[in-house]
Amino acid sequence: MKTVAVDAMGGDHAPEAIVEGAVAAARELAIPVTLVGDRDRITRELGRHHAEDGLPINVHHASQVVEMDEGPVEALRRKRDSSIRVEDIQDTEKRATFVEDVAEINEALARTGAVDYQFQKAAPVEVAFYRLGADLLFRGRFTGALTGTCARCLENYPFPLEREFTFVLKPHGEQASKPQELSEEDIALSFYRGEEVDLAPLVREAMILALPTRPLCREDCRGLCPHCGANLNAGACGCRDEWTDPRLEALRTLKR
Ligand SMILES: [Zn+2]
Ligand SMILES: [Zn+2]
Repeated sequence: MKTVAVDAMGGDHAPEAIVEGAVAAARELAIPVTLVGDRDRITRELGRHHAEDGLPINVHHASQVVEMDEGPVEALRRKRDSSIRVEDIQDTEKRATFVEDVAEINEALARTGAVDYQFQKAAPVEVAFYRLGADLLFRGRFTGALTGTCARCLENYPFPLEREFTFVLKPHGEQASKPQELSEEDIALSFYRGEEVDLAPLVREAMILALPTRPLCREDCRGLCPHCGANLNAGACGCRDEWTDPRLEALRTLKR
């Protein structure tokens, strides 16, 4: 049976009237309902209606206010939800957008040990998706705004990161091989199981892989003077030229 997703926060007597309706639908008609909105308020309302545990009611937390003219499912995809129901992925291409949470990307980044990069704000992601038999295809693009710490001069510098991605998700347990219809090289293969695909972790991984291996504020960054520590991008520091050659420095130590 299809689940009905309802915007619990929309309308004049929301969420009270909507939760009441959902409880009635679930209890009397056994229709599975997903209530979308503020989890705490919805849960409180469900308690008021003595919604028993076995009722087919799910709460999907969405903190943003859903606009009146958008369906809740559509709005969820656009505003925050990176999860797409497998049954919604059909032969015809559909599109969705969501944002990668800045704290979550930075946490994932920290886990890789890449301490020289920080995302500055939530990163928008656009994705088009369709299926090829049992395989799910996602093509999209993300845009990030980051700060890097230069490996040479240690200054922080802002830079944008924009990249396209292609993911192929196969049913869990299948052999990992590219669908024959696709010839591109840089396709990330992964697996899905269950009723939903959450794109957020996959996109986060693609973002991290897209980072330059070495953070440089600019290609020709002159770095720091090894003697006085001055940032040489700002001009010469006055240390004698010969001292900047580490080989000469080694000789000097030997002579002493
Ligand atoms: Zn630099
Ligand atoms: Zn110097």
